[in-house]
Amino acid sequence: MDYLLTEEQVMIRDLARKVALEKVLGKRLEWDETGEFPWEAMKAFSAADLCGLYIPEEYGGMGVSVLNFCLATEEISRICGGVGVTFAASALGSTPILLFGTDEQKKKYIPDIAAGKKLAAFGLTEANAGSDAAGIETTAIKQGDHYIINGTKQWITNGGEAEVYSVIAMTDKSKGPRGASAFILEKGTPGFTFGKKENKMGIRCSATRELVFQDCKVHKSQLLAKEGFGFIVAMRTLDLTRPGIGAQAVGIAQGALDEALKYARERVQFGKPISSLQAIQHMLADMSTQIEAARALVYATARMIDAGKKDFTLEASEAKLFASDVAMKVTVDAVQILAGYGYMKEYPVEKMMRDAKITQIYEGTNQIQRNQIALSLIKNSSSKK
Ligand SMILES: Cc1cc2nc3c(=O)[nH]c(=O)nc-3n(C[C@H](O)[C@H](O)[C@H](O)COP(=O)(O)OP(=O)(O)OC[C@H]3O[C@@H](n4cnc5c(N)ncnc54)[C@H](O)[C@@H]3O)c2cc1C
Repeated sequence: MDYLLTEEQVMIRDLARKVALEKVLGKRLEWDETGEFPWEAMKAFSAADLCGLYIPEEYGGMGVSVLNFCLATEEISRICGGVGVTFAASALGSTPILLFGTDEQKKKYIPDIAAGKKLAAFGLTEANAGSDAAGIETTAIKQGDHYIINGTKQWITNGGEAEVYSVIAMTDKSKGPRGASAFILEKGTPGFTFGKKENKMGIRCSATRELVFQDCKVHKSQLLAKEGFGFIVAMRTLDLTRPGIGAQAVGIAQGALDEALKYARERVQFGKPISSLQAIQHMLADMSTQIEAARALVYATARMIDAGKKDFTLEASEAKLFASDVAMKVTVDAVQILAGYGYMKEYPVEKMMRDAKITQIYEGTNQIQRNQIALSLIKNSSSKK
């Protein structure tokens, strides 16, 4: 499909592809095995000026473009889903500051993130608060000009590696969801440490860690927006970053199709390449069609956001939901086409299948996306009456 990308968009996509091929392809299986954090790749993205694709120029970025960010995320994820999410999670962590930060907060934190000198992370989830984010127990109690933060965040991508954290904590538990607030936390703040690094099924080179707060004292200038706005900050952030998960999923799926096509042409059984078997051809055709549909939905959503549409909760959820379901299906089919070899670690498709799974889970499970889509549909249809 020709998406009629501008010259700049093609340049960004091709640059991300080139850097991923040069710096990630040769390392992805090793990083998957060892779980080593891909600093080498992140430094290369920084050197190629790819870290500020969603950041305004006045804060050191390349100008706000969800589509440019999605194009780069897709190409990186096509080579490695773990590196893709490491790249994308910095956008997730910095979006609360971009959306709700004061000019001073943005000037302090965003330029280094745009330059790729620092990574960001987003801390919402806790042991007892996953889909039900309103159940968070981390508290931020005001004392004079400071807040004292206590609690533990779980499964935070880029945890321990990032320098800047957007964290949601309860400033007034009695108000329920309206008692949550968002804070900017810096790595190294006394009372802020990291728990164990998780050993995961997929995206194994990405760091997933606990954030532990024990009487962590932060100045009130670290509050984002106003007290009580924590969930608004979190939900608006997720609306904006979910197309990025869609792009990650499209990239993983495309990477799996690339491998399946290559293998199908090379593998000979019954005296001919398996690509000549209609059973294989139909699988390849379905994989390609599904990927293109997912890509079209992700790009259309990104373009709509870039064009200034204000309410895009529905479309962002649809893009994330559809693309991640496609990634799961396509990667399973890729393993099937490679069959026994697909099951072996020498070939990348088993890793792609493991990497794809998380796109159905994080930034809201696909059940939660379906809830959200249905709610938006019902709300929109009742307001049209
Ligand atoms: C590798 C990884 C990285 C992550 N990175 C981050 C991060 O950077 N920052 C962060 O804050 N969080 C992060 N998370 C957390 C992630 O967003 C949560 O795992 C996710 O929101 C789901 O929460 P849960 O796992 O506790 O599942 P649960 O909420 O316990 O859900 C269990 C099951 O019940 C279903 N379910 C729950 N409620 C409903 C409902 N109302 N309707 C229908 N079905 C429902 C779910 O879909 C799921 O199938 C990460 C998680 C992982 C695994």
